[in-house]
Amino acid sequence: MKVILLGAPGSGKGTQAAYITDKYDLPHISTGDLFRDNIKNQTPLGQKVKAIMDTGNLCPDDLTVAMVKERLKEKDCENGYLLDGFPRNLFQAGELDKIDAPDVVINIEVDLEKIEHRITGRRSCANCKNSFHVDFIGDREACPDCGGKLVIRKDDNAETVRERLAVYQAQTLPLEEYYSKQGKLVSVDGDKSIEEVFAQIVKVLG
Ligand SMILES: [Zn+2]
Repeated sequence: MKVILLGAPGSGKGTQAAYITDKYDLPHISTGDLFRDNIKNQTPLGQKVKAIMDTGNLCPDDLTVAMVKERLKEKDCENGYLLDGFPRNLFQAGELDKIDAPDVVINIEVDLEKIEHRITGRRSCANCKNSFHVDFIGDREACPDCGGKLVIRKDDNAETVRERLAVYQAQTLPLEEYYSKQGKLVSVDGDKSIEEVFAQIVKVLG
């Protein structure tokens, strides 16, 4: 079974990916890990990627595709894969179709306003690193657990979050259309509990 998982930052995609790979015994292939592994192991592709990223540029599509292609040749992909973070655009989706097309594309649909609220309302303790939501702790400035100072993490500020979500939407909508036309797109309601979201996914994957 070859599965692509789509979901915005804050949609719980990482958790669902772990559940899926565990239940269906699929290799979890995330482009983030692929970049790290190729660079760490100094593969020919990794060296190229590192040289480009060192100059502050993004990895070009053809290198990303090449890394995924290499990874899909490995033995653990014989029975399929769970792709996470790839494809990111129509070019990559087209290339994947040439290499090893997916059977199903699961889209974890979430209300972006809810995600924004969830992330921007997060306060993290500078001391114990626990995080809390203003919905529950109000405007208190001290950690309920240890009394440490509560701060807003850099990634959690409203502007950054909105920007990340906007980028995600712009990237993903064309993919949703692409796979919808192929009859492969299945959306699940991501605003439910982790268990309920996973139950919907299991219904899709069988
Ligand atoms: Zn604390």
